[in-house]
Amino acid sequence: MDENEYDVLVVGGGIAGTGIAAHLAPSCRVAVLEMEEQPGLHSTGRSAALFVAGYGNRVVRALTLASRKFFFSPDPRFCEGALVNKRKIMIIGRAEKREAFEQFVAHELPAGNLEWISAEVALELCPVLHLDGLIGAVLDVDAADIEVHALQHGYIRQLKSHGGQLFVNARVEGATFDQAAGRWDVETPLGVFRAPILVNAAGAWADEVAAKAGVKPIGIEPRRRTAALVDVPEGLDSKDWPMVLDADESFYMKPDAGLLLISPADETLSEPEDVQPDELDVAIAADRLQQLTGIEVRRIKSKWAGLRSFVGDRSPVVGFATENPGFFWLAAQGGYGIQTAPALSSLAAKLVLKLPVHDEFEAMKIREEDLSPARLYQPAEQVR
Ligand SMILES: Cc1cc2nc3c(=O)[nH]c(=O)nc-3n(C[C@H](O)[C@H](O)[C@H](O)COP(=O)(O)OP(=O)(O)OC[C@H]3O[C@@H](n4cnc5c(N)ncnc54)[C@H](O)[C@@H]3O)c2cc1C
Repeated sequence: MDENEYDVLVVGGGIAGTGIAAHLAPSCRVAVLEMEEQPGLHSTGRSAALFVAGYGNRVVRALTLASRKFFFSPDPRFCEGALVNKRKIMIIGRAEKREAFEQFVAHELPAGNLEWISAEVALELCPVLHLDGLIGAVLDVDAADIEVHALQHGYIRQLKSHGGQLFVNARVEGATFDQAAGRWDVETPLGVFRAPILVNAAGAWADEVAAKAGVKPIGIEPRRRTAALVDVPEGLDSKDWPMVLDADESFYMKPDAGLLLISPADETLSEPEDVQPDELDVAIAADRLQQLTGIEVRRIKSKWAGLRSFVGDRSPVVGFATENPGFFWLAAQGGYGIQTAPALSSLAAKLVLKLPVHDEFEAMKIREEDLSPARLYQPAEQVR
């Protein structure tokens, strides 16, 4: 093998790309190609970093649950400190949005580890909330803040300790499958890399990368979400406040290193790009914070936006492309790519290596077809 020849090339150095590469490295020669000058600069470095078991659809919840042990009892060889810190989530009901709250309670309360609490108890947990109009809340005590940096650096360490490589400033500009040699020739500014398997973990750019390789797109929709950090009113210790989410998911706030992270939970369709926050979305978040708590935002400490990329059914897309067997998709993790990374990256690596995965799917009570890109190409009436 020459120095640019690998068994698997992974496009994208976010949590998805570094996660799958870490799992592949003990079994094969693998390299990650990242276009930026460091990994994790896009969605992975801009998330709200939450682990919430009851978030997302059935498939996402199964993947999150399967990732729980990895986060809560991490292998000391993977990282030195904790990967999560407990953080309660409080979904609040307000009189003006009674219907949304009642629907949430009816749907979610019987399903899981949630408890209903009164408005007064909600106020004890988060003393800045306005009691007026608060009709109650639902508490998820099993949620946590994720140490995203520790998670990604654990993956990168694991990758490198098994001889895998991470190339930065290595934007994939084109990829051609050489039928005779049975491998992809992948063009980057660092030269041509070769491997029989190309993993597309390019986040919002997943369809763009597929197009460069002549592979049919999956219809990825990058959606912008905005966040800002603002001050906590003087004299209050917000460290143990829960994350507070409006029942119709139109606003959330959570403590973040002595400040408050606020978001209007926007989902504006975007191009794949280094997305920037829109002033209006930041203003909406500040306004909703004021309505809910009375906190008047005097200073935006920092603000950012990131892309949450979905396909129509809001499940991730994981598996070999139907018409290009050496092309593997690991995309569309939406707003759940961090909390599902442990289960998804391990499962995806097994699929790439063609190892048995029956037991994993059985344990999660989902099917390979729930994730496979093939589901996206079926005529509409066949899609469940
Ligand atoms: C505001 C916000 C809040 C969120 N909150 C949460 C949360 O609380 N919990 C949770 O689990 N998830 C959350 N998410 C979602 C989570 O961040 C994503 O699902 C996850 O980061 C996706 O990881 P990724 O590796 O697929 O994408 P990315 O991190 O975007 O990585 C893709 C990489 O591909 C690279 N790339 C693209 N094109 C090329 C190319 N041609 N050549 C080489 N490299 C290329 C990019 O530079 C990028 O580094 C949130 C997202 C946002 C924006």
